[in-house]
Amino acid sequence: MAEIVLSLDHLHKLAFDVLASNGLSAHQSDAMAKVLVAGQRDDCHSHGVWRLIGCVKTLKLGKINADAEPQINDVSPSLVKVDARFGFSPLAFELGSRVLVEKAKKSGIAALAINNCFHFSALWPEVEAIAAEGVAALAMTPTHSCVAPAGGNKPLFGTNPIAFAWPRPGAFPFVFDMATSRIARGDIELHKRSGSRIPSDWAIDENGQATDDPDKALKGAMLTFGGYKGSALSAMVELLAGPLIGDMLSPESLAFDEGVGAAPCHGEIVIAFDPAVFAGAAPTDNLQRAETLFEGIVGQGARLPSQRRFDARQRSIEHGVSLSKELHDELTRLIS
Ligand code: NDP
Repeated sequence: MAEIVLSLDHLHKLAFDVLASNGLSAHQSDAMAKVLVAGQRDDCHSHGVWRLIGCVKTLKLGKINADAEPQINDVSPSLVKVDARFGFSPLAFELGSRVLVEKAKKSGIAALAINNCFHFSALWPEVEAIAAEGVAALAMTPTHSCVAPAGGNKPLFGTNPIAFAWPRPGAFPFVFDMATSRIARGDIELHKRSGSRIPSDWAIDENGQATDDPDKALKGAMLTFGGYKGSALSAMVELLAGPLIGDMLSPESLAFDEGVGAAPCHGEIVIAFDPAVFAGAAPTDNLQRAETLFEGIVGQGARLPSQRRFDARQRSIEHGVSLSKELHDELTRLIS
């Protein structure tokens, strides 16, 4: 299949133009384009620029507030809430995370709750941005009901990702970012797009039977990773990023959509921990002890999570990113 290679700046311009020409404010378009380009740059295709197609669909459906300027509510020394006012999540995160980091650096621990945001992006750009400030971070968000609890066979949970980043002096941070479902839903959608089968332990069909057909999987229910353990973690994400912060559970978010198929609207929680405050007089010693753990992982031939992404990032910075001509043309046609 023919490929088109673009520099990261060109890809950002393409993404920005698609969003802005479909009515999204310049402030929101820039924040969203950065996140989608980062996904493409790091070879995270399920959260790369093909998601622009869904963004434009969401914009055209009129559910989203395309001009929303997030509102920051400084609740307490350790809590900041941001009302995204029914815009996309990246701008709300960008603005709220600055306050979050300041608070964590003063209090040792602080939380950012984002409410009323349309959210579908990967979480690693967020926890990585916080780790770049020397602060560890944990982020969670529900989605739309599409995952059955372990032992059940009907969609209830979202794919509910959990991401964590730990700052490492002079190195990329330690980062993992994973759906609590077997796989992100976007991966199943990409299999459907390309006409390929999926592993039969990712999802069940509408009759509760294992399936390798992406279409039947999307109509049925996805499964949690690690059986009942992933199921419990997924429930935790619903609680901490839903009722705790006064926002929707995945079933409520799905109901809010009214069947139109827009991006999910709900909340997100991000918790930040400053190792310098926790460690008191010995921050350097403690960070060094963390390095011992990472050496123990790679020392036995295992890889650190996100290493694949960091390698891809390096390649993309040097050589640009390639898009299939089909996707490039489809995105270009979206610029109105
Ligand atoms: P994966 O299962 O592909 O990867 C999960 C994590 O494990 C990554 O950090 C990955 O690092 C790491 N990893 C993978 N293989 C190994 C290995 N062999 N050794 C060590 N670490 C490894 O991701 P998911 O499919 O679970 O999730 C994909 C994305 O989807 C996430 O970014 C998530 O935020 C996003 N998502 C977003 C949602 C939303 O609504 N906002 C909903 C659900 C998911 P690496 O990348 O380097 O391979």
